[in-house]
Amino acid sequence: MSSVHDVYAVRYGHHDRPAHENYIGGDPHDILQPLAYFVWVIRGPHGTFVLDTGFDQAMAAKRGRTIIKPVAEGLRALDVDPDGVTDVLISHLHYDHCGNHTLFPRARYHVQDREMRYATGRCMCHAHQRIPFEADDVLAMVRRVFEDRVVFHDGDETLAPGITLHHIGGHSMGLQCVRVNTRRGHVVLAADATHLYAHVNEGRVFPITYSVAETLEGYARLKTLADSLDHIVPGHDPDVLRRYPAARPGLEDWVVDLTAR
Ligand SMILES: [Zn+2]
Ligand SMILES: [Zn+2]
Repeated sequence: MSSVHDVYAVRYGHHDRPAHENYIGGDPHDILQPLAYFVWVIRGPHGTFVLDTGFDQAMAAKRGRTIIKPVAEGLRALDVDPDGVTDVLISHLHYDHCGNHTLFPRARYHVQDREMRYATGRCMCHAHQRIPFEADDVLAMVRRVFEDRVVFHDGDETLAPGITLHHIGGHSMGLQCVRVNTRRGHVVLAADATHLYAHVNEGRVFPITYSVAETLEGYARLKTLADSLDHIVPGHDPDVLRRYPAARPGLEDWVVDLTAR
């Protein structure tokens, strides 16, 4: 059976913010540098995998973000029925990556040991470290542990032929990225291992971070895992929507095909 899969980015949210908020040390340009919010779909001979689950309208309101299209709508545009998804990969447990708790009732959730330890342990005693986490998200994951719906991973693991998980850390202690064999080579869904192209390309660091050193080492890892810089897909860069074509006519600026270049 082939190990070649299709990969899509599904945008669901948006946040306008000044560029200086995206980098430790700020940015000299007095411009807006918005963040886009995505989930990703991997589909092929070994099934359908959804990377991250986004957040819902209530969380958008709480956090001052904008929902462009609900996650479920984006998935259905790709003919993915959330009820039928059996495997959800969670890059890390920040609020924008693991909300929509009831959307995938049949799925097992794949997380790194270290992320669960981080989100439930002594680091969360510090208000600063808690900022990107929501207790309800973490509790939802703990409940899934007790329902036999969590698969823990430690470091680098093969999920299916052509699909591997890789611990990166840095931005969050147990952050993982996903490497997928596609018809244009090995694509790396970096999630927040690089928020924007500028982070990995220029060695700059997003202000929310568990370890600056690991974040920078993570960039080197992403480059090793991907076939080229052009094969790294950042977690929050609106430019992804311009660099890649719509998965189908009518899905422009919403669902793009990461293998069609
Ligand atoms: Zn994050
Ligand atoms: Zn994020």
